Amino acid sequence: LFAPHRANAKGWDITHRPTLDQIDLGRSPFKRHQWSAAPLSSARGNDATSSPRAVLNPAVSNDTVGQITWASPEDATAAIGAAKPWDASANDRAVVLRKIATAYEDNATELFAMLHREAGKTMLDAVGEIREAVDFLHYYANEAEQRSPTPRGIWTCISPWNFPLAIFTGQISAALAAGNAVLAKPAEQTGLIAHRAVQLMLDAGVPADVLHLLPGGGDIGAALTSDARINGVAFTGSTPTALKIRSTMAENCAPGTPLIAETGGLNAMIVDSTALPEHAVRDIVQSAFQSAGQRCSALRCLYVQEDVADKVIDMLKGAMNELHLGDPWHLSTDVGPVIDEAARKGIQDHIDTAAADGRVLHALPVPDTGTFVAPTAIKVDGIADLTREIFGPVLHIATYKSQDLNKIIADINATGYGLTFGLHTRIDDRVQQVVEDINAGNIYVNRNQIGAVVGSQPFGGEGLSGTGPKAGGPMYMPRFAASVDYPDIP
Ligand code: GLU
Repeated sequence: LFAPHRANAKGWDITHRPTLDQIDLGRSPFKRHQWSAAPLSSARGNDATSSPRAVLNPAVSNDTVGQITWASPEDATAAIGAAKPWDASANDRAVVLRKIATAYEDNATELFAMLHREAGKTMLDAVGEIREAVDFLHYYANEAEQRSPTPRGIWTCISPWNFPLAIFTGQISAALAAGNAVLAKPAEQTGLIAHRAVQLMLDAGVPADVLHLLPGGGDIGAALTSDARINGVAFTGSTPTALKIRSTMAENCAPGTPLIAETGGLNAMIVDSTALPEHAVRDIVQSAFQSAGQRCSALRCLYVQEDVADKVIDMLKGAMNELHLGDPWHLSTDVGPVIDEAARKGIQDHIDTAAADGRVLHALPVPDTGTFVAPTAIKVDGIADLTREIFGPVLHIATYKSQDLNKIIADINATGYGLTFGLHTRIDDRVQQVVEDINAGNIYVNRNQIGAVVGSQPFGGEGLSGTGPKAGGPMYMPRFAASVDYPDIP
């Protein structure tokens, strides 16, 4: 629950990872590279006539990153027909998953460039993302060896743009570890990275009839979740989309077909008067603004005890002023763009409404290119003022009186979401009490509340935030399997 260290999956030496020193972004051949991508499947539908679309860099208005041809619903249906579970032992599957991990490390320079240019990820985030993808591959490879899972059949994996490599790889590698065939639909915004990842998976030895990449929009998602031949769906994305998938599956799939959904959150942090302000402010800034707030784990509503509120908010403004916004290609960038113009507009409208009401406490200037949103702090009375998840660098701040602690915990639980929660205090009894009372999948004390680590901090929420089981934990891969051995769980 509280461990800030990284997982060291069995038998894997953490020191083999690439480090910043080894990467010279300035000379990267990928700075101007144009990628091209299309469905990757052993079967295509008859009317595969769609024309390529341009993929744009969200940070730099005139940088085209490449072209992608989307799949058609007929391609999706043909892929379902061709998909075959993996005819290899669990140990052999684990060997291939580890080869994919090595391929990611060997190709890290290219993957960094794609994460910067297609997904707007800073170097810090891109490093974390590749590590997490590699962690997932090793973790589920170990799981396959230890639990000898047998496949359910065909899984649909629908992944988000905010972790276009890590979550994409996590879902697929768990499904493959269990021996399933996989139909992968990446987010519309990040199909190039997904395509490169699937190329590396196929090159490492995943058979072509086992793994199918179907880039595209909502029609592909619908085709892949409404077919009676599907034996399970893993989805990470918004809560409304997850609810839609659930009802589509209920109408079309066999009863009991599993859905693993990891969705949104209205995540809170409480900072009481005993917290160390410098420490709390560092963790607030990371939790709210790292990844431009585009993590489902990100801090959305901060509660500061009123006795220390002026001091904490002043320090927070100062810390926000130190954030460097810009093109993620540069190592000095702390906050990159949001993913696209539609996202920028939705977040900016929210900020503009707050500004019109005089509730903006602090905001930074933005670059005049790309789709940037200024990190912004907005005053609210409480979490009930947040009517939806604002998926960007916007922090809502409320103050509270010591005697109202139980009430704000009830308010946080009353949102119905339960993903992450943060607490800064130096009172041990308070830690025990709050941890017991809060409904949240991942609770962090005296640290930031983003960046769950595969293996040591399984990640996932409850209520409107997801179905479980948590990704990167011992219950996740077994959900993809028809049966598993549990040799090491008494
Ligand atoms: N696992 C990520 C974290 O702990 C968040 C995943 C997400 O945003 O979907 O920050």
